[in-house]
Amino acid sequence: MSNNYHDVLQVSRNSTLAEIRKKYKELAKIHHPDKGGDPDKFKVISEAYTALSEASKKKATAIDKPTHKYHSSDSMTYEHTIFGDDDFYECLDIDVRVILTTRDIHKGDPIEVVYNRYVDCDKCGGTGLDKEGPSDDCLMCDNTGRINGVECKYCHGKGLIYTNPCTKCDGYKLMMREEKFNINNIRRVRASCTDILAGYGHKSRFYDRIGSVNLIIIYEELLDYKILPDDTLSHDVFLDTSDMLSGTTLEYTKLSGDKVSVKVPPNSKNKDVMRLANEGLLKNDKADRGDLLLILNSK
Ligand SMILES: [Zn+2]
Ligand SMILES: [Zn+2]
Repeated sequence: MSNNYHDVLQVSRNSTLAEIRKKYKELAKIHHPDKGGDPDKFKVISEAYTALSEASKKKATAIDKPTHKYHSSDSMTYEHTIFGDDDFYECLDIDVRVILTTRDIHKGDPIEVVYNRYVDCDKCGGTGLDKEGPSDDCLMCDNTGRINGVECKYCHGKGLIYTNPCTKCDGYKLMMREEKFNINNIRRVRASCTDILAGYGHKSRFYDRIGSVNLIIIYEELLDYKILPDDTLSHDVFLDTSDMLSGTTLEYTKLSGDKVSVKVPPNSKNKDVMRLANEGLLKNDKADRGDLLLILNSK
């Protein structure tokens, strides 16, 4: 991390996220282009802020409070946090927390994640201006649409400036839109616990830039199940001591919901293991699975 970032924001090396944010807001109010500030200076300040807040956010993830929480069907829950309660605080990344249960992991089907993000307003194309309203010559490019051979960024190459704000976004340039993506490889996210999806975050209001989705996987283990190495799953099952002595047939319901009869031999002891081959967790993209261990417990 460049030391310059701290200097740009005039904060000490040990500043907290709150201190960094406070200082950024102060500086942004002075240098924001919408307030007549220098866009280049603002850009440097924004970059410093993004870098420092990302760094401190990584440390603080565990204590972040999500601002939205959704429940979908089945057992999946996802939450997402949108930083950015005002114009000056432009964090483009979105934390998406996905709770996976043992059942989701066993099933291995793609998990659909739904979240909201800012994208260009679809009426004005992110310009914030009413293209059907009145217009004026662009003074920046002398209404040629180009400056030094490059498309004029003030009029977007049109040579004229629309003078009224967009009727849909009221000049904000962005709109909130629901987005979806699938987590296809459950095994991979199970191993890594996190994933960064570049280009899935918020669109910047000021720059041609889109943030990332930081996918954070949280496991919720079902009671009596354990995930073991080599994609093995164990499940504590409870039997009457007398049945374990005499031997019995266990009508076992697998995580898939399918039922199977398991022969428990006579004289079985507490913590004896019945191994069901290929009924554990997915080994790879294919249908190979580890084993399921049924741990016998006398009750
Ligand atoms: Zn222009
Ligand atoms: Zn608009």
